[in-house]
Amino acid sequence: MQTQVLPPSAEALALAADLLRRGQLVAFPTETVYGLGANALDADAVRAIFAAKGRPADNPLIVHIWSTAQIEAFAELPEGAEALIERFWPGPLTLLMRRKPAIPDVVTAGLDTVAVRMPSHPTARALLRACGLPVAAPSANRSGRPSPTTAAHVSEDLNGVVPLILDGGACEVGLESTVLDLCHGTPCILRPGGVTQEQLSSVLGPVDIAGSVLRPLQTGEVARSPGMRYRHYAPKGDLTLVTGPEEETLSALRLLYERDTAAGYRTGVFCFEEHAKTLADCHPFRMGRLSDPASVAERLFDLLRQADDAGIERIYSEVVPPTGIGLAVMNRLGRAAAFKSIPAREVLDQIKEE
Ligand code: AMP
Ligand code: MG
Repeated sequence: MQTQVLPPSAEALALAADLLRRGQLVAFPTETVYGLGANALDADAVRAIFAAKGRPADNPLIVHIWSTAQIEAFAELPEGAEALIERFWPGPLTLLMRRKPAIPDVVTAGLDTVAVRMPSHPTARALLRACGLPVAAPSANRSGRPSPTTAAHVSEDLNGVVPLILDGGACEVGLESTVLDLCHGTPCILRPGGVTQEQLSSVLGPVDIAGSVLRPLQTGEVARSPGMRYRHYAPKGDLTLVTGPEEETLSALRLLYERDTAAGYRTGVFCFEEHAKTLADCHPFRMGRLSDPASVAERLFDLLRQADDAGIERIYSEVVPPTGIGLAVMNRLGRAAAFKSIPAREVLDQIKEE
């Protein structure tokens, strides 16, 4: 299949809407990451998303809409949803809702809820409006790869597999939406994202965070969000997070870089803009500013791909505090590292001994 990459002109949007109405796939920008869309009411079209991504069939999709009037046809608003919609839609917040029969099983992986979001990106909104359909869309990457934040990332993964990629430039948030469950007791964040726990609490009161957000699932634990079962966002190199006070962390990153480079590994460090000078000779990848965690969110997925492109085999990374947007950053970074982390102090003691 020939893949066209087009800027979102009126003609390109009309073509994209037509493809969606005919059961085809279209990759499009949103404010979080690029999505790979299909008509959410057409089971065959949705199956094609799973095939294109190599996505496990038990990982449900998010349905995208441009108007709340669309919801009634396929889902029921849970209690508490209206205030959140008022405040955060359009934007990076996904709400679980009880599904109606119009939604095929393949969208929800057989669950009794469907995830719904109204994106704010003008291209996404224009496309959703033009096609007039609810559009099921996961991130437009091959399953297991970092989510795409540019059209070039989508091309890397899906060239020849989808007919059209709309190129709307780099995504503003850079990480996927917050997934919030309002259907099962106390509101619970299943996946942290662009709308923070603090923001949600200011509207809802207490909001829980699913246990698997900052640690691996334990044996026998049921994932409330099936996506949490899978290794995600993984770079090809081996990623380890280094934790501790700033000075110790910088010394540890240097020691690890020197040790692994001497052992013959192509090694790099993910460090904040503020520390790039100090670590200039340790193959630094600039992960955004420590003083502005949103800038880290924006760059993280691109950084993981850059490390792959540079053939890095061992990566050591700084971490951000897990509050505000930092919680989403640490969830993605943690999962990319398969939750492998080491205290800087331990590194300093160990390497000194050797
Ligand atoms: P992605 O499409 O890559 O942004 O992934 C969608 C995320 O939403 C995955 O982590 C899914 O497991 C989660 N999700 C989608 N629908 C549901 C649902 N009905 N219940 C729980 N989690 C869901
Ligand atoms: Mg994804």
